[in-house]
Amino acid sequence: MAEKELYNIGEIPPLGFVPKKMHAYVIHPEHHGPPLQAMKSEVVDLPEIGPNEVLVQVMTAGVNFNGVWASLGQPASPTRFHKHPFHIAGSDAAGVIWKLGSAVKSSVYPWKVGDEVLVHCGQTCGQCPYCNGGDPMFCREQKIWGYESAYGSFAQFTKVQAQQLLPKPANLTWEEAGCYTLVHATAWRMLYGHPPHTLQPGMNVLVWGGSGGLGSMAIQIVRAAGANAIAVVSSDERGKWCLDLGAKAYLNRKNFNCWGQLPRVSDLNAYGAYVKEVRKFGGAIWEITGKGVDPDIVFEHPGEQTFPVSCFVASRGGMVVFCAGTTGFNLTFDASYVWMRQKRIQGSHFATLYQAEAANKAVMDGRIKPAMSEVFEWERIPEAHDRMMNNVHPPGNMALMVQAARKGLKSLSEVT
Ligand SMILES: [Zn+2]
Repeated sequence: MAEKELYNIGEIPPLGFVPKKMHAYVIHPEHHGPPLQAMKSEVVDLPEIGPNEVLVQVMTAGVNFNGVWASLGQPASPTRFHKHPFHIAGSDAAGVIWKLGSAVKSSVYPWKVGDEVLVHCGQTCGQCPYCNGGDPMFCREQKIWGYESAYGSFAQFTKVQAQQLLPKPANLTWEEAGCYTLVHATAWRMLYGHPPHTLQPGMNVLVWGGSGGLGSMAIQIVRAAGANAIAVVSSDERGKWCLDLGAKAYLNRKNFNCWGQLPRVSDLNAYGAYVKEVRKFGGAIWEITGKGVDPDIVFEHPGEQTFPVSCFVASRGGMVVFCAGTTGFNLTFDASYVWMRQKRIQGSHFATLYQAEAANKAVMDGRIKPAMSEVFEWERIPEAHDRMMNNVHPPGNMALMVQAARKGLKSLSEVT
């Protein structure tokens, strides 16, 4: 392939040659709206990389809810976080190292141009006490790449910090490799990152949205630990999909009517009717776990619609751990059940490199699968996000083709 200023989608430049321009899905702050409206395929200049950064040629990418928020500009335009005039979304990628910053070195992974990698989305300063002996997710400069940074993965090239790189599992196709790291590492930290409430064999874990991206990874992590995942889903079809993935059982939330914010506890009629319905849901859990056996961990992310129920059904001394509020941020719960039964409510946000690596090793070992669902070509990237926004996407993780021109390929040599 000759050296050119701009390459078509799926056209790979000579190894290590950095063109001036690239195709990218760009969100402009004056055009926020649904993904089909806000994400526009445009030609932009390649970003410069700093000494500790790496330029990655993106083979495939993944779909996450933050791409929907970025399109909508809600709760705020990402351009307000990173001050760049436009935003390229995308917080999951598999690709090839194309250029290394001058200071990049690592004794664990001696990265070089041409290495096949995954990108995790946790950016940190690398120099503060939290980044050096503490928890890097507490770093004041912690950001989510592709949401709080301007150059995400929906482009031919992306720029990332060197510590965001992980080796691509050789057993996966490019599309499988690009679709799962954000949800997998997030689920891993939720289940292992908050001691002493860490996942152990025999535990019962209630997993909301079992057939979604996060849920599909949580079910597999729980199963790999020898614990029991109880998936909550919106249909029996999705429930069966969760059983195939390794859930012990599932509950169809359509069979219960205890969703939304907690009624006022002082409103005896409304509150009484609500608690009766929650008990029905709790009873359905006991039919799986045994009478009186409540979930040790509740894996939360819907938020407003489910949070009060999560806080009711978690066991005495158990934990409700949450990483999102996809149905709304105004969380409510009956405080007396939380303090008297000494439950823990724990926020959790993405993961450290250490946790992302542990999660990825389980994929390399074949113990956990990417749970890939549908694969979308470059032209359909906004459509994939539209489906996620409207909750009409298939179970599992959607994958997006960028520079990998065909499905089923596993290495750079197969692509070129
Ligand atoms: Zn730091």
